[in-house]
Amino acid sequence: MSELKELNNIKYRIAVASGKGGVGKSTVAANLALAYASEGLKVALLDADIYGPSIPILFGLEKEKPEMTSIDGKEVFLPINKFGVKILSIGFFINPDQSLIWRGPAASSILSRMINDTLWGDIDVMVIDFPPGTGDIPITLVNEAKPSTAIIVTTPQKLSVSDAQKSGLMFMHEQINVPIYGIVENMSWFTPTNHPEDRYYIFGKGGGQALACSMGTKLVAQIPIAQGLAGAADEGKLINYEQNEITLPLFRKLASEIFGSLDK
Ligand code: ADP
Repeated sequence: MSELKELNNIKYRIAVASGKGGVGKSTVAANLALAYASEGLKVALLDADIYGPSIPILFGLEKEKPEMTSIDGKEVFLPINKFGVKILSIGFFINPDQSLIWRGPAASSILSRMINDTLWGDIDVMVIDFPPGTGDIPITLVNEAKPSTAIIVTTPQKLSVSDAQKSGLMFMHEQINVPIYGIVENMSWFTPTNHPEDRYYIFGKGGGQALACSMGTKLVAQIPIAQGLAGAADEGKLINYEQNEITLPLFRKLASEIFGSLDK
């Protein structure tokens, strides 16, 4: 076995996927990673969203570039440590001034390097922020990263269900065969801080449950719209999530239930 293969030991990989962008997939992925880090687990976060890598923004790492080291005569990436999470994002390899157009083979090749040519070390859980949708690139990523399980993030609009369903079906395809842990409905409702009992269903209702039923899986979490989350994320103050009394327990519960479901 090569030296790098001996050094890397990633026990579980959780794919966080969605049918389309903007539903909060990266927010869920980042919060799961933070929840695992808070449990003292060794956590990696691989941001493979070639269409809109938001992990560098969420973690305030926009100007960072991963360092390299030489192992087995090969140059390998060193993930960046932040808030107890080892992070590697496809966004680190893009000049922010350039528009992001990865052609299929280039994207597949960098994703493969991010998984295989990186010194991850000993990792209990790697959370993978998948590119939205289906197609060659997510399929290559499934084959390279071999997720232990997947969650599908959707918003409550019934219209977004068909996109999310395609993404779910990709994981369930017999040649791919990644178990789906369940559906996470994000932005389920809005509760103003001064009226904690009220729920406003701004984006409609029932999409997560409908998706779960249509795919024969469960709705495993409903995350409300949290006041201040979007702004905090844009400013790279992800740590503010840790102070959000409504969403923090939901993300921690979800993280621990997913972990509990993995074959030990
Ligand atoms: P995706 O990865 O699906 O493209 P993001 O995680 O980048 O989506 O989220 C899109 C935007 O919505 C971001 O500005 C993010 O901060 C915001 N957002 C996501 N989930 C929530 C939530 N539950 N409450 C408030 N804002 C949210």
